[in-house]
Amino acid sequence: LRLNAANLPELEHATVPTYDRASMKHGIVHVGVGGFHRAHLAVYVDSLLEQLKLKDWAICGVGLQPFDAEMRNALVPQDNLYTVIERSAPGSKARVIGSITDYLFAPDNAEAVIAKMAHEDTHIVSMTITESGYFYNENTHELMTDHPDMAADLAGAHPPRTFFGFVYAALARRYEAGLKPFTVLSCDNMQKNGHITRDMLLAFAKHRDPDVAAWLAQNGAFPNSMVDRITPRTVEEDVVNLREEFGVEDSWPVVTEPFSQWVVEDKFCDGRPAFEKVGVQVVKDVKNVEEFELMKLRLLNASHSAMGYAGYLSGFQYIHETIGHPVFGKFIKNMMNEEVKPLLPKIPGVDVDEYIQTLIGRFSNPTLKDEITRICLGGSGKLPQFIMPSIAEQIVAGGPLRRLTLATAAWFRYLRGIDEQGHDFQLSFDPRNDELQKIARDEGNPMKLLSIGDLFGDDLRGDERFVKELTESYNALERDGAMKTVERIA
Ligand code: NAD
Repeated sequence: LRLNAANLPELEHATVPTYDRASMKHGIVHVGVGGFHRAHLAVYVDSLLEQLKLKDWAICGVGLQPFDAEMRNALVPQDNLYTVIERSAPGSKARVIGSITDYLFAPDNAEAVIAKMAHEDTHIVSMTITESGYFYNENTHELMTDHPDMAADLAGAHPPRTFFGFVYAALARRYEAGLKPFTVLSCDNMQKNGHITRDMLLAFAKHRDPDVAAWLAQNGAFPNSMVDRITPRTVEEDVVNLREEFGVEDSWPVVTEPFSQWVVEDKFCDGRPAFEKVGVQVVKDVKNVEEFELMKLRLLNASHSAMGYAGYLSGFQYIHETIGHPVFGKFIKNMMNEEVKPLLPKIPGVDVDEYIQTLIGRFSNPTLKDEITRICLGGSGKLPQFIMPSIAEQIVAGGPLRRLTLATAAWFRYLRGIDEQGHDFQLSFDPRNDELQKIARDEGNPMKLLSIGDLFGDDLRGDERFVKELTESYNALERDGAMKTVERIA
């Protein structure tokens, strides 16, 4: 049966929303309605609307990128309904999510997006815009003002091109109208995602209007959060499977795992729903969020990146196959236990060994079919967040860093876009692929990549032990291939 509001009561094999979607106000505007948002925040909000019968907290989805037309084309004819398929070894469950009740596509109507954010019913603007959407220079910690899209928005381009351009335009209207600013809630995988959001947005606002910037600094809120739910890319087989197993015809369902976690700092300037009633860990102290973030990014995301590039070079297609291979299983477990765990703060109530065990179990979920090519997306935003900080700390501590370094060398080797049989392959998307691939190919020397100032700090380049390890690993990858090199270092 075709998924839409009229057919909801007829769907027999999926859980469906029973609340009145038509009468809802949009308390949340979410930018970047991709797989992850639809498996995470939108699901928590769906639970809130269902269980607490809230009326003011539906989500208006927003796509800023031209390629978001595909999501609009999928969602709008389905009344913005879609299915979350939760997969695990015992079987799958299907749940139709109703919390997104409108979708705006900025390339068609930028004004509607700005007006929606500026509307007094909007209390939170949340986003999953990937690491590159923040224009954050890792080395200077400043806004990349010279990026062409950012430069255009700083000069007042209309319509805006970047997330910050849209958010600023809406906030400036609220300032003029005497409203409160909305909370800007990042749900991207970045250490201190709230702080980065605040710093980049305030830097942006200062360029445009110091009065708006001062008002926002005084009254705005940018909670830090740790988000976690592995959400693979949807493939055609998932669409077919949903139709055959659950009788739901959905043009773009989302597949995810049973596990879900969200730890968010309780810092909202214009109200929030009772997230804690639906399993969210809302915490008062930013330190708690930072500790959870650190643990998750440096264990889960770092392991993903380590499996991704070395796994791709070794010919794996999925994460569960990679972790299931004895060589890679040993490599990842040892990397987590010996090189990352000793650097992590102790979190009261969290047993890090258990956390690592759970992670291995989640990586091993064979029903999820998480593709290596997805894990390899956007390395320039990931490695500096997930792997490099642990290396920098091990340099200071004089501790082990060989496996983390091998993960980095594998990324550098991958960036050449030439496989171990000498054939060209298409790199997974990264906004900096052209620049990185050129350096990786021309020079064949990992130091050239390491000298890219806005990705890697001087602490790494200047360390003799790390540079030696990196060069050796890189040469071994070239000479012996990934599998043999991982086996030796694992
Ligand atoms: P996706 O490809 O399904 O969706 C990405 C979304 O980001 C799209 O809507 C796209 O339009 C938007 N986007 C990308 N670049 C943008 C930019 N420069 N400006 C504005 N919007 C932009 O990917 P996804 O799986 O939904 O992941 C998105 C982000 O969510 C990740 O980068 C990560 O930070 C976070 N996340 C994902 C997972 C996961 O397992 N997929 C888990 C935790 C966190």
